[in-house]
Amino acid sequence: MLSRSVFTVARLSSSHGAATARSASTLLPSAHGDAEFIKTLSKPELFQTASYINGAFTYQGSDSSSSSSNFEVINPSNGQTIAACPRDGAAEVQQAVAASKDAFASWKDTTAKKRATTLLRMADLVDEHKEDLARILTFESGKPLAEARGEINYANSFLRLYAEEATRVHGEVLQPNVAGRRMMTIKQPIGPVALITPWNFPAAMITRKLAPALAAGCTAVIKPAELTPLSALAFCAIAHEAGVPAGVMNCLTVGREEVQEVGRALCHHDDLRKISFTGSTPVGKWLYRESADTVKKLSLELGGNAPFIVFDDADIDVAVNALINTKFRNTGQVCISSNRIFVQDSIYDEFAAALAAKVKNIKCGDGFNVENSAGPLINAQGLSKVASQVDDCVSLGASVLLGGEPIKELNDKGGTFYKPTILTGVTPLMAPYREETFGPVASLFRFTSEEEVIRMANDTPFGLAAYACTSNMSLAFRVSESLESGMVGINEGAISADTIPFGGVKQSGLGREGGAWGIEEYLELKYVCFGNI
Ligand code: ADP
Repeated sequence: MLSRSVFTVARLSSSHGAATARSASTLLPSAHGDAEFIKTLSKPELFQTASYINGAFTYQGSDSSSSSSNFEVINPSNGQTIAACPRDGAAEVQQAVAASKDAFASWKDTTAKKRATTLLRMADLVDEHKEDLARILTFESGKPLAEARGEINYANSFLRLYAEEATRVHGEVLQPNVAGRRMMTIKQPIGPVALITPWNFPAAMITRKLAPALAAGCTAVIKPAELTPLSALAFCAIAHEAGVPAGVMNCLTVGREEVQEVGRALCHHDDLRKISFTGSTPVGKWLYRESADTVKKLSLELGGNAPFIVFDDADIDVAVNALINTKFRNTGQVCISSNRIFVQDSIYDEFAAALAAKVKNIKCGDGFNVENSAGPLINAQGLSKVASQVDDCVSLGASVLLGGEPIKELNDKGGTFYKPTILTGVTPLMAPYREETFGPVASLFRFTSEEEVIRMANDTPFGLAAYACTSNMSLAFRVSESLESGMVGINEGAISADTIPFGGVKQSGLGREGGAWGIEEYLELKYVCFGNI
């Protein structure tokens, strides 16, 4: 690896400084990356490509974008390289963890009010720059700009929520078991934490973890997905401007080849007390195993295989809209996306036709064109997984009601697009019954009875989200209690919010993010006994 020159950013705060407001626009390094795109930003300095460690973006000696020590970030809409990021490894993990440990010593002792103020300053800056942040998000993920704007707002809701929750971390005074004793509990930040995030929500998954961590008094080392590191780095620039002290928030840029080395270094590091991970189930299990020796606390938000049940008394319009929301948002690349759509016999054909009538209007293409309501799959691997699931279903007897193939004219220009697809006659022998599709394919299964559909819905090792549509309140209650999942949407497909406990059961994960539950994941409960009073 080439030696690094650190772009050292002058700081107005002291070394472990309490958060101090800075007019930092002059302090951020100038933007690195695609010059044409950067020109479209109101604040180009939000476009950073190197890791952020101890309050500084760390660039190599010169602009070495062609260097083999960089990995490329690709726009999946057209296959073009939009940035090159340094390949951080175990050495950078050591630096970032050392910075976070150093910063923890003072950040944990700041008042909750002060941490809240810092988070609110970040939130105000996110609001000020939300169009730039949305553009960066669309540029690296391909998602339509309207969805990117929605994600930035959602991301920001966590900064505001946890600014409030910071001040609500309370202990208790307990009844003593012996006269002359006083007993109490206090809650303390767990310590420096590692936050590992996926590419499907590159902004929101950062703040959903970072905001409660910082609010609790923890410091953080973030490892964003190699496919979408730019939004995470833009949030570092925001944090920098907001006066988040050096070392409190660090972010590594890690290529696919180095990810296991970095993952291992994070898991094995004694100074990191927790890992919060959102991503695939195999990687989550690996992190769980690797963290055993240091007995880290883990929050894992892993894969799902969400059932979406349409009972014959459902309002068809409501069910169709709910399904489109969960199935086609972000081109189906959502961990709570419905995967197995169970439709009751008597309304199966009517529902399929109503769904097709709406889905055929979804227009795919470049996210910057406002006419497009769906973007590409994240990469060729994502595209081929979707295509192979559809092929598997068709070869086993399913019918293609809509779509069913890649979009050749867009893919010829470098994209990774697949047509919004509806499959009918899908059965438990076919791939979507067992695995997440993570793409724009609605697989329609048929069922007859409540008992049968609940059995099929729960016939999976996963349990993140589940959905059901019905007008029968008793049925809605029964079903929401019987479904083995962390979250249930009844007549609703858009169930995420900052205030909810987001998380799964079974092999979908551990812990909850969001609301008051989210900050608990970053706190330790301590019992203190005062004797002989
Ligand atoms: P996907 O297959 O959808 O990319 P992953 O679970 O591989 O899902 O990725 C989610 C996040 O986990 C990304 O930031 C990725 O770089 C990271 N990751 C993957 N493997 C490891 C690992 N061995 N250690 C640490 N992080 C990892």
